[in-house]
Amino acid sequence: MSVKLAVKPQLQPKAAAAGGAYDLIIIGGGPAGLTAAIYAGRARLKTLIIEKMVLGGQASTAFQIENYPGFPEAVAGHELAQKMADQANKLGVEVLWGGAAELKKEEQSWSVQVDGKPVRAKAVIIATGWENAKLGVPGEAKFRGRGVSYCATCDGAFYKDKNIIVVGGGNSAIEEALFLTRFAAKVSVVHRRDELRADKILAERAKSHPKIYFFWHAVVEEIRGDKNVAEVALKDLVSGKKLIVPVDGVFIYVGSQPNTGFLKGLIKLDDHGYILTDEKMKTSAEGLFAAGDVRAKTLRQIVTAAADGAQAAESAREYIESKG
Ligand code: NAP
Repeated sequence: MSVKLAVKPQLQPKAAAAGGAYDLIIIGGGPAGLTAAIYAGRARLKTLIIEKMVLGGQASTAFQIENYPGFPEAVAGHELAQKMADQANKLGVEVLWGGAAELKKEEQSWSVQVDGKPVRAKAVIIATGWENAKLGVPGEAKFRGRGVSYCATCDGAFYKDKNIIVVGGGNSAIEEALFLTRFAAKVSVVHRRDELRADKILAERAKSHPKIYFFWHAVVEEIRGDKNVAEVALKDLVSGKKLIVPVDGVFIYVGSQPNTGFLKGLIKLDDHGYILTDEKMKTSAEGLFAAGDVRAKTLRQIVTAAADGAQAAESAREYIESKG
């Protein structure tokens, strides 16, 4: 288990390395987890964030964020993530790099297995967010990394002057389609309906962009190629006609699935696997709280994740103090 502090790995938290105990463990270092850490740090709780990828979560891969208050000129996802991590870091919050696999209630605490080793805390906030949903069509898994991508910020630059397909009609799909026009010759959005789910301001921008085209009420049936992606087979859902479109890249944004696999049977989840909480972010298990996109909720935004994180930290503090 390697252990790191802040966005870039630096120090090894001694207590975590020794399997030691914290007041609060936060699983997941996205905007919800980092905000919870800031509030917990200010409440002088001994706090550990467990993160397996990068601080800032999905938000850190956004090219630019235009709807987080205080940034009228927009802010790059990685820059906002760095600022949040710096703020938590200044308050003495520690970060342990690794995947949380199992949570267990012990007498006075919760234990979290991180890469086979336990760390313990009086309370735990789960802020594990979500990962991109998969289309589940032939060729998707085979060509992942060879033309199929779920991250325009990571892979967009490989598609200079190429033809790209973006699948989906939500905020992610349309934001990333707009971003990809910086590189690609042509970006075609494949959406299963004839109306975008994305915010109106993004939809307007995409519809008037000279490089963006739309395949309305269409779905991808197969992604094909030899070594790399070469074409996709589309089906028009109205006419039933099939269409083969030559492409170099397929970027998939068809929603999300929550990272709650390790929680099954432990706390109440909704039918889609999101965590059910009350308005104080309490889950169905005492001492376990949840915050951010992993929670069953209607609006998944950085600002709502941050709000959840603040409330979860406050509820965790109250809980810890009530236990003496
Ligand atoms: P989303 O809002 O759930 O949109 C998913 C899109 O994929 C929808 O257009 C959906 O079609 C389509 N889709 C779903 N399953 C499909 C399938 N099997 N085949 C083809 N198309 C499929 O997901 P998202 O865009 O990833 O956003 C996730 C959350 O983050 C949302 O709450 C979103 O508002 C938020 N977000 C916000 C921003 C921002 O505010 N700037 C940026 C990114 C994400 P239908 O429309 O027909 O259902």
